[in-house]
Amino acid sequence: VAIFASLADKLQETFKKLRGKGKLTEADVTAAMREIRLALLEADVNFKVVKDFINRVKERAVGQEVMQSLTPGQQVVKIVHEELTALMGGSESKINWAAQPPTIVMLVGLQGAGKTTTAAKLARLLQNQGRRPLLVAADVYRPAAIKQLQVLGEQLKVPVFSMGEGISPVDIARAAVEHARKYGNNPVILDTAGRLHINETMMAELVAIKRAVDPHEILLVVDAMTGQDAVQVASNFNQQLGLTGVILTKLDGDTRGGAALSVRAVTGCPIKFIGMGEKTDALETFHPDRLASRILG
Ligand code: GDP
Repeated sequence: VAIFASLADKLQETFKKLRGKGKLTEADVTAAMREIRLALLEADVNFKVVKDFINRVKERAVGQEVMQSLTPGQQVVKIVHEELTALMGGSESKINWAAQPPTIVMLVGLQGAGKTTTAAKLARLLQNQGRRPLLVAADVYRPAAIKQLQVLGEQLKVPVFSMGEGISPVDIARAAVEHARKYGNNPVILDTAGRLHINETMMAELVAIKRAVDPHEILLVVDAMTGQDAVQVASNFNQQLGLTGVILTKLDGDTRGGAALSVRAVTGCPIKFIGMGEKTDALETFHPDRLASRILG
């Protein structure tokens, strides 16, 4: 992943030194931790997240078993890998399917984060798993969004439910769920309206939709390229809406990957999917261990 290239380079250099040492002293570990700390900060990982991470790794790394093992350097690398995986949520987080279909997945996020594109990508991914999703155009403030979703739905042969622009998104959401019940669509994927910045009108509207249809998933679509802003946005949405997860988009970009490494730790919300490109097949289930491996080599 391009955004982690620089971080990966730096960590791998540190690991090479560690592995080459044979026996490790506490000073060796301290020096390595300093390098890892700097590399993470340069990758734009949240300051407090870095601090806690380094403390955890260090506590384990200077332990008797590690220092006296035959391959202490290797052990430290393993600990970094485990802690990095844990930081990003440990294991993969699945969609919370409703016992009684349809499962309602509400996508929220700021304008431009990639919500509409992600709605289509998610529909495609779930369709490939044998589901019969319904896309719902509830972004009534950006007329182009409805058209955009219809075009994408047509490409994917996924039905798109829309009622035009003059209708309240709450009514659209309710009617869409009815429609899905009647025609056996599952899940219902709601593409809601964003704004350029978080504001009360947007939040009030999202809360109203949430109350009306009681979604099983409220997933925040957030642009990883915005770095620490992404983390702030996630915290804010989570406080006001109670998110069940996050979808990070634009991880194919060339910015630093701090958001991906901080969102889970700061908000407690699992990253469920990652967007890796503009095309509709560019959405992946998020595997913390795999990303840790990609970063650590
Ligand atoms: P919305 O306003 O949140 O609905 O955002 P859109 O779905 O219209 O997406 C905004 C822009 O981001 C579009 O040009 C998308 O093609 C682009 N985009 C969305 N997801 C990704 C991604 O994962 N990678 C890249 N490179 N671009 C993306």
